[in-house]
Amino acid sequence: MKEYTMVVLVKQVPDTQNLTGEAMKEDGTVNRSALPAIFNPEDLNALEMALQVREEYGGTVHVITMGPPSAVEVLKEAMYRGADRVYLLSDRKFAGSDTLATSFALKQAIQTKIPDFDIVFCGRQAIDGDTAQVGPQTAEKLDVPQLTYVESIQELGEKKIKVRKLIDNGTEIVETALPVLLTVTDTANEPRPFIAKKLLKYRKAACEFDLPKILPRYPQFKTKEELKNFLKKKGLFIEMWGLEDIKANKDDVGFAGSPTMVKKIESITLTGKGFKKIEPTDEGIAHFVAELIEDHTW
Ligand SMILES: Cc1cc2nc3c(=O)[nH]c(=O)nc-3n(C[C@H](O)[C@H](O)[C@H](O)COP(=O)(O)OP(=O)(O)OC[C@H]3O[C@@H](n4cnc5c(N)ncnc54)[C@H](O)[C@@H]3O)c2cc1C
Repeated sequence: MKEYTMVVLVKQVPDTQNLTGEAMKEDGTVNRSALPAIFNPEDLNALEMALQVREEYGGTVHVITMGPPSAVEVLKEAMYRGADRVYLLSDRKFAGSDTLATSFALKQAIQTKIPDFDIVFCGRQAIDGDTAQVGPQTAEKLDVPQLTYVESIQELGEKKIKVRKLIDNGTEIVETALPVLLTVTDTANEPRPFIAKKLLKYRKAACEFDLPKILPRYPQFKTKEELKNFLKKKGLFIEMWGLEDIKANKDDVGFAGSPTMVKKIESITLTGKGFKKIEPTDEGIAHFVAELIEDHTW
């Protein structure tokens, strides 16, 4: 029976769903330092779907995040939940990437490091950037079909996949060939909690960035290299890939590879202007709906 090679793309995001007074700066941009960093919620659903495929059919779940050193925390969380291998895609040259440059880097990482993938899982959307572009753009660059808004996998064969996806006012069953990229919605499943045994093991996991900080905790090792080899042997070293590791061109990532220009940021405060009473009758509601359609609110 086929074993599936799966890649889950996860993003660390500021917790924009729990905004406090300091969450926004005066210029209207998000004050990232005032918000806790969390696992993008729908990426947890994507990870859960991949773990369920591994449980039912067998395979390996690889998790990649592109971000600053602190993004290693979402990789650890992925391990606590059962991911097999995790990788941090991080390089100063990636800074300033828009969705096009982000998806280019992710595509390069997958193609260079995990070229025999069967399924790439993404969340439908990140709660900070909110564009829902990275999944579809990555699929296009990988030249594989994309199935978006996926709620469940109905059938998985050696060469084909059938899924149920959300559409306006209902669902749709669609089938395509493997390899494929799926974007997964928050209605797909209930992400599993941390597994206690894995938490105890992997909380000590570290990547290159962490070595100088944690070296004093291991007096038996004199150098970073010795510590790194020890962590590798224990399966606790988190691999990190930079621009050269994924054979990317610096002009395709970061500011250089990002055609998006942010011209102006505005902070918009919505205020209510009085209220209108609608009669709770068929006629009252019909009149209200007609008004909404007329002024393009609906
Ligand atoms: C001009 C410009 C400059 C920017 N500069 C920066 C910057 O300097 N630093 C910065 O942090 N952001 C920057 N951004 C934001 C950045 O482009 C987006 O956050 C990023 O491309 C993801 O887009 P999104 O949040 O809309 O994700 P979506 O497209 O909504 O995400 C969909 C799914 O794609 C996957 N995904 C998205 N991002 C990642 C990732 N990084 N790693 C792994 N999987 C991912 C996840 O599965 C996610 O659920 C910049 C944006 C613009 C327009």
